[in-house]
Amino acid sequence: MEIVKTHTGKIYVDRDRSLEFLTVGDYGKENNIKANFLGYTKEIEGVEHHDVDLADKWVATISTQKGCPMHCGFCDVPLFGFHGNCSEDDLGYQIKTIIHGEQIKKTARFNVHFARMGEPTFNPNVLSFTEDKLDALVAECGLEADTIHPVVSTMLPRSNMMAEDFVRYWCDIKNNARGGEAGLQFSINSTDDAQRDKQFNGMSMRLRAISRLADTLPSPVGRKYTLNFAVTNETILDPSVLDDLFDKDKFVVKITPIHQTSTALLSGFDVGDSYQKYSVYSKFEAPLLDHGWDVIVFVPSYEEDSDRITCGNALISNARKN
Ligand code: SF4
Repeated sequence: MEIVKTHTGKIYVDRDRSLEFLTVGDYGKENNIKANFLGYTKEIEGVEHHDVDLADKWVATISTQKGCPMHCGFCDVPLFGFHGNCSEDDLGYQIKTIIHGEQIKKTARFNVHFARMGEPTFNPNVLSFTEDKLDALVAECGLEADTIHPVVSTMLPRSNMMAEDFVRYWCDIKNNARGGEAGLQFSINSTDDAQRDKQFNGMSMRLRAISRLADTLPSPVGRKYTLNFAVTNETILDPSVLDDLFDKDKFVVKITPIHQTSTALLSGFDVGDSYQKYSVYSKFEAPLLDHGWDVIVFVPSYEEDSDRITCGNALISNARKN
């Protein structure tokens, strides 16, 4: 297994198991997010790199599939091909490797993001693993975590007949089994279906269908569900369309830059000056605030993006190409 050191953690590239996963710390909300409704009101003009402490917050980002059957136009994972779902054992193996790879034995927060390779709604093992195994496994590995917070991010594939059931089941885990301590993110990226079709290669559900699914979800316990927008300068984000489709009591809007993956660059997405200029985000944030949305703007540091720890990256794809 290859272990790539990054500024804030490590990326594990396991070619034998066709898995890639990573462990990172966080700079702290006051340094990399703006979210007026949470009291973080400073505009983030670039994020300065500094050392992180896993005892404060530890993020494990793991794969749910070996490669991915989707073809999102900003993502390098499909270059690796698709080699099946991760078993519960594969999911546990990634968590174990991450925890055993550090000296830390206690953390305030251990986030598990099902977000490296794969579309999680294709893999029911994500549900059973989270429901039955995750918390016990973290403890067995010797990590005492005050909070364990798993997060599913989905691009809602239209070909997956089980996606809606998966999402509803996940909400039940979040709201009931975990008392709110879990996250759900929908990758929306644009309020224009034609632009979404370009980004997701026509493989994500139509906005109207996502809206119908959202209407069936229970009110969230704990944090609201998230509508995620990975933006470029060309992104269409019309708050009145969101008003029409989604309930502000259930959802917040999160804005991040689209990441500088090889595929995003090849696809011609403008990933230019996203890191240093808050104006890139404020043009999206301000109209949403005017419409009464809770908005989180997340800004990665230049180092985080160059380390390829962000969504859409996959070092294992390069190995395959080479
Ligand atoms: S963004 Fe997620 S769903 Fe889309 S191709 Fe990449 S890994 Fe698959």
